[in-house]
Amino acid sequence: MTELTTLSIADAREKLRAKEISASELTEAYIATVEGGDVLNAYSVKTPEIAREQAAAADKRLGDGDAPSMCGIPIGVKDLYCTKGVNSQSGSNILRDFKPTYESTVTQNLWDDGAVMLGKLSMDEFAMGSSNETSCYGPVISPWRAKGSDAKLTPGGSSGGSATALAADMAMATLGTDTGGSIRQPAAFTGLVGLKPTWGRVSRWGIIAFASSLDQAGPFTRTVRDAAIMLGSMASIDDKDSTSAEIEVPDYEAALTGDLKGKRIGVPKEYVADGMSSEIKALWEKGADDLRAKGAEVVEISLPHTKYALPSYYIIAPAEASSNLARYDGVRYGQRAELAQGDGITEMYEKSRAEGFGHEVKRRIMMGAYVLSAGYYDAYYSRAQKIRTLIKGDFETAFENVDAILTPTTPSPAFELGAVSDPVEMYLQDIFTVTVNMAGLPGISVPAGLSETGLPLGLQLIGKAFDEANLLNTAYALEDTAGFTAKPEKWW
Ligand code: GLN
Repeated sequence: MTELTTLSIADAREKLRAKEISASELTEAYIATVEGGDVLNAYSVKTPEIAREQAAAADKRLGDGDAPSMCGIPIGVKDLYCTKGVNSQSGSNILRDFKPTYESTVTQNLWDDGAVMLGKLSMDEFAMGSSNETSCYGPVISPWRAKGSDAKLTPGGSSGGSATALAADMAMATLGTDTGGSIRQPAAFTGLVGLKPTWGRVSRWGIIAFASSLDQAGPFTRTVRDAAIMLGSMASIDDKDSTSAEIEVPDYEAALTGDLKGKRIGVPKEYVADGMSSEIKALWEKGADDLRAKGAEVVEISLPHTKYALPSYYIIAPAEASSNLARYDGVRYGQRAELAQGDGITEMYEKSRAEGFGHEVKRRIMMGAYVLSAGYYDAYYSRAQKIRTLIKGDFETAFENVDAILTPTTPSPAFELGAVSDPVEMYLQDIFTVTVNMAGLPGISVPAGLSETGLPLGLQLIGKAFDEANLLNTAYALEDTAGFTAKPEKWW
């Protein structure tokens, strides 16, 4: 049992194709671990019946010799992917019991390749947060604990359920989304590989929007090879999403040679943030050494507008959110407040939105509406957009000389639930990740070491647009030399 639920996708694929194991057997093993993990609160909905049906269909395909890489692989899906007939709430009460009548392109692509759905995964409400504490389902707990402590830690956010489910062996891989770091930060906190593809590489159709120009779907996996496999299945050119790029999906797995000879890796000097802890610094330096050991040349680069990235992200993301979330009005979806005698349509909107949205979402809607308002648009929104262009330009200049960029993923290891109550302190979690979304580039977090307290730490690699193949290969080399194998000790 245990063995089945710790396999990588690549290993499971071989065993499934060789008929050493069946998809149904694998799925039953995961249904059991999902059942045993309730205390971690990762799953918002469990779908064992769907899983069993899909597993039986996968076994049939395997039997017929028609088995794509994801065939029979049990996965968990972040709550904001629309899954037909299955609750898709984006972690919010305003979408209570919303059951889409359609399937997101990404999940459809995975089901078409034979993947198996174990259920939906909790997340910060509308993907706003870095600790999975703003979810309508309550906080998700990390399976990791600091040495000598039984304090509950955050798995990170907003894809916290996706991180916990995989780290606690309650799925073989999971789906997340990343608007400012929501795949890479939780992956770093839980010792997983987390990939945010280039904006446009993966269709956003059927994914409940937070900030459309920044949102991108991606996988959480145990290994870089698994990320390559899963991205290959998720990515497509999609007529339903006019922003999905008309670029053929390459064979990402074929790019994994681990050879970095002739490659140049940039280390941005601006990322040496004030007060960076010595362990993060040491991890970063070791990562650079690891890449050198694989034949790469590591050079210092400059991304001069880095310091403006976080403040401008926290203008652009809320602005887009305030517009995207305007549709939740008590009429078209889920939640409608009970109305008093004499209440009209305005009261219905106001009460439904006041009841349905949580604190952080309200804060973002207010910030967004403010920066878009007539008197402040030029001072905030339009300046933030200009900064965004400059940030993009920084990367374009840097990529004239380097093939990828290496940075830490997070400024610290996972913190205790409840420990960060100041929103600005929470926003600072995204300091190393938001620039990538602002520039629309692909980024990946690779588990690279443990903190002094025994918690996972990740390194981020940033690639050129639509160059996921080379980015994955660089990550593959880093993974190999970093040799991260730690797992949380089972206490749940
Ligand atoms: N933590 C960031 C935010 O709250 C990023 C979230 C995300 O990537 N979805 O906006």
